[in-house]
Order: sequence, then C-alpha cells, then structure tokens
Amino acid sequence: MPGYEPFLLCDFHVHTRWSDGRLSLREVVDLYGKTGRFDVIAITDHILMKKDLLARVARMATLGRRDFSVTEARFEAYLADIAAEAKRARRLYDLLVVPGAEITQNHIRSRKNSHIIALDIKEFISADQPAEDILRAIRAQGALSIACHPHHRTTRRVEVGTCYLWDNRKRVVDLVDVWEAANRDDLFSVTSLKHYPYIANSDFHKPKHLHSWKTLVRSEKTWEAVAAALRSNVDVALTLYRNGSWAAWELTLTFEVLRSSFGVLRSQSAIRTPQSAMRKPAARVR
Ligand code: ZN
Ligand code: ZN
Repeated sequence: MPGYEPFLLCDFHVHTRWSDGRLSLREVVDLYGKTGRFDVIAITDHILMKKDLLARVARMATLGRRDFSVTEARFEAYLADIAAEAKRARRLYDLLVVPGAEITQNHIRSRKNSHIIALDIKEFISADQPAEDILRAIRAQGALSIACHPHHRTTRRVEVGTCYLWDNRKRVVDLVDVWEAANRDDLFSVTSLKHYPYIANSDFHKPKHLHSWKTLVRSEKTWEAVAAALRSNVDVALTLYRNGSWAAWELTLTFEVLRSSFGVLRSQSAIRTPQSAMRKPAARVR
C-alpha cells in the first residue's frame, strides 16, 4: 500500500452473488480494485448444508432465482470464474484474488454451528460433515482454515450464533490455522486474549461493508508468502478501513497495541503456536 509499504492491505472474507452477496464477482473485484488501496482479497462464498433452512427460505423468497450456496455441481464453474477474475484483477489493479469458500453449518441448535473459511481451496468440501472433518479436509488439500466470527457478537443484530469452534477450542485448536479476531465492525477480545493466530475481515456482503476491519500483512504479494505470514502470525496487524482512509496511527491496531489495550503484554517473538497456547493459559493482568 502506498505510504505504508511493505504492508499489504487484505480482506480474506468476501461474498458475491455466487452465494448471498449483493454484487457479482466482477463488481466486487472492481469495487476493491478501484479504491487503489487493496492488495489481496479472498472470495469466500458459502457452501451450505444440503438442508440449510435459511437457504430454503431465501430460495422461496427469490422464487428460486437465487441459490445461496456454491453447490458441488457449480463448484468448478465457481473456481473458474474466480481464476478469470483474478487474472483481470492482477492486470488492472495489481490485486491478488485468492479462491476460497465459507463452509457453513447453520443447525437449528446454534451451539453446533460453525462457519469455516478455506483459503486457496482446490476441491469441493461438503458442509454436511462434522466441523473437525471440514478442518481436516481443508488441511488435506493444503488450504488455510479460518474460524469465522467464532465468538458471540455484541451487536443487537439478529444473527445465527457460530460458537462451536470457540466452545470446543481445546479439541480443534490444532486444526484451525487462524481465527477472526475482528469481523466487520466487531472485535472479539476473547479470541485475542488467548493469543491464537488471528486476522480481521469484512465478511463483505454489500458495498457498505467495505468500511470495516481488515488485515495488514507484511509479505510479498504472492499467496504462498501471504499464507506463510498468516500461519506464523508475525508481522500481521488489524486495521480499520474507513471511508477510503486507513493506516493512520490512531486507526491501526498492531498486535502490540491490541494486546496492551486488553491488558496483555507480550513481545511478537512470544506469539504462541495454537498447541502451546493450550498447554499454558495466556497471562492475564486481570
Ligand atoms: Zn459466516
Ligand atoms: Zn461470511
């Protein structure tokens, strides 16, 4: 990003009309690209359970015109569309577009719900299997997993809870690559206190969601380098992108500032791996 090199401004959680986003994939690429600010975005449309209730309601509401899931039958076409747009985005905007999907479980009992993003997805992953198997499937194809909005939101928005991974973190922590510490306008302090590898995303569904939490990554602009930075979770920062401006000191919360603000002080070199984080609880001031 101009003025803040060598950090890359990234958004790893973006929906299009391939599922329930308001804009087409091309419109999304142009929206991010024309800001002249973004370096990396991931397209992460929903893969829903076959019997997803919300999807059935939505299909009825649109008289069957919209399918709110990337189904197995449409998966190859979805990847091909992303690949074509990625080429165009790199050429026009020097924007790296990463193929992804949000494997989405909306059960009637919300304690079982999880939304898991697979970045650099290559093969279809069904949502009709336990969350642990979804995470294993992501790892088996060399993709990177994100636990999406893993904790309760504090807003009054009516929303399906997605706390399964957080509630079962001791069992799944070694399978999750990164956790969303921030999603759109929300900041999940509990996630950050535990010192799991974390990032921030917009969960983009419509243009106003462009202005929200984002991730800064210090790496080369290739997926391999970005993925390595996310996994090691060093040189990663959370930032608020607001009305086209970003990276002002007061708007940029680096890990150190974020930790300090939550009363936890730790040097970057002491960032724990998920495994070691489970052995010893994070030091809390209070
Ligand atoms: Zn979600
Ligand atoms: Zn989402």
